Amino acid sequence: MLLEMKSVSAGYGRIAAVRDISIRVPEGKIVTIIGANGAGKTTTLRAMSGMLPITQGEITFDGKRIDGMPASKVVAHGIAHVPEGRRIFPDMTVEENLRTGAFLRKDKEGVERDLASVFTRFPRLRERRRQRAQTMSGGEQQMLAIGRALMSKPRLMLMDEPSMGLAPVIVEEIARIIEEINAEGLSVVLVEQNAELALELADHAYVLETGRCALEGPAGELHDNEHVRAAYLGI
Ligand code: ATP
Repeated sequence: MLLEMKSVSAGYGRIAAVRDISIRVPEGKIVTIIGANGAGKTTTLRAMSGMLPITQGEITFDGKRIDGMPASKVVAHGIAHVPEGRRIFPDMTVEENLRTGAFLRKDKEGVERDLASVFTRFPRLRERRRQRAQTMSGGEQQMLAIGRALMSKPRLMLMDEPSMGLAPVIVEEIARIIEEINAEGLSVVLVEQNAELALELADHAYVLETGRCALEGPAGELHDNEHVRAAYLGI
C-alpha cells in the first residue's frame, strides 16, 4: 500500500469532523472519496497531507509513519495537495506559482526539466507564463494548481474538487489530465462532489457520511450500488 490511513479521527477544536476513517491507496491507482457537503472529505485530505493534525489513528506512506509530520515534510516525502479552490498565489505570475511547488527541491536541473514538462503538458501555461495568476480563467487556474503540485515531483497527488465551478468541457479536460498523470504512474486521491465523474475515473471509492466511512468498494461496484445511485448519482 502506498498510503494507509488507519482509524483516523481529526477535526477542529473539540469537534471531530471525521471519525475512525480507514483508507488505503494502492500504488498507481486512483482512489476517490465522495460524499455530501460537510461529510468530511476535505478534512480527510488535510489530515493526509499534514495540514491538519489527527487526534486518533495513524497514517503511513510507503511504510513510514507520516502523521504528526509538518505539511512541508509530508510534501518532501512525496505527497502533493491540490487544495479546494486552487489557492494559487494571485499576484504572482504563472511561472512563479509553478516554481513555488518546487521550493523544497535541491536538484536545480530536475526542477527546470519538470517545469519544461509542465509547460509541455499545459501549453496554455507556457503561453501565459508571465501573466499574473489571478487574471487566468478558472480552468487555467486549476491547471496551474495541478502543475504546481507536479513541481514537487510527487508520488501521490491529493486533489480536492478539481471540477468545482468549471464548465463541462473544461471538466472533461481536467479528467483527461488526471487519467494521463495516473497512467504515467502517479497515484491519486480524488475528492469530488461530482460523484459520476469520480466513479468513472477511480479504481476504488469510499463514501463518507457525516464524518464516517459509510461504504467502500471498487468504483464500478459503488456506481451500481442502489444507495449510491439514489443519494449521489441522482438516479
Ligand atoms: P465540502 O464539500 O462542503 O467541502 P467536505 O466533505 O469537504 O465538504 P469538510 O470541509 O471536511 O467537509 O467539513 C467537515 C466538517 O468540519 C463540517 O461539519 C465543517 O463544518 C467542519 N469544518 C470544516 N472546516 C472547519 C474549520 N476550519 N473550523 C471548524 N469546523 C470546520
